[in-house]
Amino acid sequence: MVAIDKEKISPICPHCEQKIDRVIMVNRGAFSIYQVFCCPKCEKVLGVGGAA
Ligand SMILES: [Zn+2]
Repeated sequence: MVAIDKEKISPICPHCEQKIDRVIMVNRGAFSIYQVFCCPKCEKVLGVGGAA
């Protein structure tokens, strides 16, 4: 069992290094079959989820 600490931290975008409190989920075009999460500040891709 892995212990999980809940901390109220603000995630920082690895691209623009700004604090982000939300992400944008792209669901259009070539990304429509995947869940693609983008930074709302610089719009760069943070991560890709599984097929929707
Ligand atoms: Zn960013």
